[in-house]
Amino acid sequence: MKYNVNSNGFYGDFGGAYIPEMLFSNIDELRKNYLSIVEKDSFTREFNFYLKKYVGRPTPLYYAKRLSEKYGSKIYLKREDLCHTGAHKINNTIGQILLARELKKTKIIAETGAGQHGVATATVCALMGMECVIYMGEVDIERQRPNVERMRILGAEVRPATSGSRTLKDATNEAMRHWINNPDDTHYIIGSVVGPHPYPDMVARFQSVISEELLGQLKKVEGRDYPDFVIACVGGGSNAAGIFYHYLENPKVKLVGVEAAGLGVSTDKSAATTKLGKKGVLHGSKTLLMQDENGQVTEPYSISAGLDYPGIGPLHAHLFDSKRGVYVSVEDDEAMNAGIELSRLEGIIPAIETAHAFSIFDKIDMKRKVIVINLSGRGDKDLETYIKWGKY
Ligand SMILES: *Cc1c(COP(=O)(O)O)cnc(C)c1O
Repeated sequence: MKYNVNSNGFYGDFGGAYIPEMLFSNIDELRKNYLSIVEKDSFTREFNFYLKKYVGRPTPLYYAKRLSEKYGSKIYLKREDLCHTGAHKINNTIGQILLARELKKTKIIAETGAGQHGVATATVCALMGMECVIYMGEVDIERQRPNVERMRILGAEVRPATSGSRTLKDATNEAMRHWINNPDDTHYIIGSVVGPHPYPDMVARFQSVISEELLGQLKKVEGRDYPDFVIACVGGGSNAAGIFYHYLENPKVKLVGVEAAGLGVSTDKSAATTKLGKKGVLHGSKTLLMQDENGQVTEPYSISAGLDYPGIGPLHAHLFDSKRGVYVSVEDDEAMNAGIELSRLEGIIPAIETAHAFSIFDKIDMKRKVIVINLSGRGDKDLETYIKWGKY
């Protein structure tokens, strides 16, 4: 069984590029060029330079002693929260802006829901001196004021999407429309392992620096380069793809993705795609997505804005479908409690997305195993949500 993408852009039954005719030339230009660009020595050198000097990589692999004692396992944390801008997202935006420059693009667009990807994109645009337009739903602009202002401080223009439910999917539609009308000078930076081929593969490759570092870091402390379990939260699935990447074909490593169940999978306030989703096409790729009986995408819900997404990337749909990966769903309260526990045991306040990955110790038997959890982001951005939740 092969788990990575094939030459047609498919992961098993999932993936591909289901796009309107008018986007074909943009996607085709990327598809034809991305591999030859990212495999060039000069590209790798520059990508690694920025990861090291600007992002602050390699991120530490930290042995969480008190957490390990509590759960009777050896638990390591891959500290993506220590990246510049506070999460793994910057790995991808650095990669894509360098790729955009190679393609002679001078303008960048992106869509954002909670604003985290918008901030990571605005950051690299400032770094490279490129014009930046971020589409964001009008409702999200209201809900995510601090990130909107961060983007503006960084010099980006935040354009409100005013149609439909005025949230992420409407922002995505507007960004697509912008791209169709400006194919020559503009690159569209997608923020997770979603969208039409080659985006899922391209983003996974940029994020794979996480498991690449992990191989060497584990070898040093454990004498072998793989753990028994790798655990990551899954919104679209990019931080999970990054930490799974070099272990996809190693059956000794159990891959665990943690989704947001919101208020519970039996309520209509959830984002647990592998539990509630069915096959369909979302953002140009065939995957699992939450939809009603007419195939309309349903509005997802999670206390964490970054997991509040109605689908998962095609890689994860394939890992789930083939049973190579195990997907667990975690409710708001469980995640919040796990976030508080990590804060108190290790002195690390995690992003609420990340907190979901820390609430699975009583859901999967992992005693006396070597476990690596991807600490995808820091909790600073979520302080308001912690305060509103209040049970600490
Ligand atoms: C955006 C975000 C996520 C979810 O996105 P993935 O593509 O699934 O990784 C998870 N954690 C943090 C901290 C984020 O900012």
